[in-house]
Amino acid sequence: MKKKINLLIIASILGLISLSVIQGYLINNTYKLKKDAFIGEARKSISRIDDFSPELDSITDQWQDYFLNQLIEYKIGKVRTEDALKNLKLKIDSSNTDYIVQYQKELKKSNIAYDLKFQKKVTTVILLDSVKNDTIFDYKKHPNSIIVGDLFEEEDGHTISNSLWLTDHTSDRNIDGENVSVSFDLQFGIKDIINIDGWEKIVLKQMTGLLALSLLIFSFVIAILYYSIKSLISQKKIADVKTDFINNITHELKTPLATLSLATKMLKKDVIQSNPEATNTTVDTINRQSTRLQKLIDQVLNNSLGYNEIQINKEQVKVEDYMNTILDDFSLSVKDKNVKVNRDVLKSNQTIPIDKFYLTTALFNVLENAVKYNGDNITIDCKTLLNDYFVISIADNGIGVSEKHQKQLFDKFYRAGNTEVHNVKGLGLGLYYTNQIIKAHQGNITIKSSEGEGSTFTIRLPLN
Ligand code: ADP
Repeated sequence: MKKKINLLIIASILGLISLSVIQGYLINNTYKLKKDAFIGEARKSISRIDDFSPELDSITDQWQDYFLNQLIEYKIGKVRTEDALKNLKLKIDSSNTDYIVQYQKELKKSNIAYDLKFQKKVTTVILLDSVKNDTIFDYKKHPNSIIVGDLFEEEDGHTISNSLWLTDHTSDRNIDGENVSVSFDLQFGIKDIINIDGWEKIVLKQMTGLLALSLLIFSFVIAILYYSIKSLISQKKIADVKTDFINNITHELKTPLATLSLATKMLKKDVIQSNPEATNTTVDTINRQSTRLQKLIDQVLNNSLGYNEIQINKEQVKVEDYMNTILDDFSLSVKDKNVKVNRDVLKSNQTIPIDKFYLTTALFNVLENAVKYNGDNITIDCKTLLNDYFVISIADNGIGVSEKHQKQLFDKFYRAGNTEVHNVKGLGLGLYYTNQIIKAHQGNITIKSSEGEGSTFTIRLPLN
C-alpha cells in the first residue's frame, strides 16, 4: 500500500511537471503569436501613414530630389560619393525634426495607443551599370550613417520592412557650355524599424486573462492532487490504526477468555469441587478475569468518547490535598513493582474547579503509562506549580517517544512504534481519553520526550 502511494505521488509529480512544461510551451507560443499580431498591427498602421500622408511625402520628396541631384553631380565628377552622402545627411538632419513631428501627428490620427518610435534606415545605394555596378553606400560598412526619424539602436526595435526599389533618373547639365543629358539606374534600399516602449508589457496585458485562468486551473489541479494524496495517506493511516486496534483487542480479549474457559472446566472436576480452597482460588480467577474483560469493554466504550460528549461535573477542589491523595493511591497500586514516585506538590490553599472522577482517570492513565513504557528501575517525578494555570508535570525515565510520533500520540487508537520493541499491550485509547478529559476542563496536555530518555507530560488546568 505504501509502495502504491509512493508510486502515485511520483506519477502525480511527473504528470504535473509534464503538464507545466506543456502549459509553458503553449503560453510561450501564444505569447509569440500575440507579439507577432501586435507588431503586425503596428506595421499596418505605419504603412498606411507612409502611403497616405502628403505632408510626409513632401519632406521625403525634397530629400529624394536633393539626393538624385547629388548623384548627377557625382556622375559628372563634381562631387565625391562621401560628399554626396554627407550632404544628404545634412539635408535630412535639417528637416528631420519636422518629419518626426509630422509622423507623430499621423500616428495619433491612426489611434495608436502606445508610445511608438520609428526610423527609416538607408541600407544600400547602388548605381547600376551594365559593365560594373557602382556601390555608393552600403550600410554594413556604415550601419548608422543615414537615418530618418527617431534615433535608437536597431536591436531595441523590430524591423517591419526591408525593401529595395529601382528607379532611373535623367537630368540635363551644362558641361563646358554644352547641354548634356546625364542618366543612371539606381537601386535604393530602405529598412523600416519601429520601437514600441514596453511592448512586452502590452502583450502580457493582452494575455492576462489567459495567464490568470491557466494559473487558476493549474493551482486547482495541484490542490486536488494534494487533497487526494493527503486523504489517501490519512485513509491508509486510519486503516492501519484500525487493523492494529483489532489485533490488539483480539489479543487482549483472548487471554482472559482462555483463562475463563480453563477455570470453568476445572470447576467441573471432582478434585476441585471436593476441595473448597481450590474451588475458591478458581472462582477468584474467574472473578478477576471477568473484571478484566469488563474493564476492557468499558475502556473501549468510555475511552472513545470525545471531550464534548463527556459530562463534566466540576467542584472546587484543594489542589494540594487532591494531588497528594492521587499520588498516595498510585504509589499503593504499584507497591509490588520497582517504582519510585518522587513528589514535589506545591503547598497551597488554592482550589480549582475539576471533576475529580474524570481527572483522576486522566492522571492515572499518564502515571500508569510511565510504568508501562519503562524498564526495571522506574522513577516518576510529579511536580505541581501555579501560574496562570495549575500545572501538573509527570516525568518518567522510560523508553521515551520519538518526535515524529509525538504529534499523534493523543489520537484515537494511536500507538507509537516503541510499543513493538517493548511488546507492551494496549489499545491506544488511554492518552486520547486523557486529552479529551483535560480538554473538557478547558485545559491542555503536552509531551516533551526523546527516544530512550524518558518523557514528561505537562497538564495545564485553568484556575477558574
Ligand atoms: P496504550 O498504552 O493503550 O497503547 P495510550 O493512549 O495510553 O495507549 O498511549 C499511546 C501510546 O503512547 C502508547 O502506545 C505508547 O507508544 C506511547 N506512550 C504513552 N505514554 C508513554 C510513556 N510514558 N513513555 C513512552 N511512550 C508512551
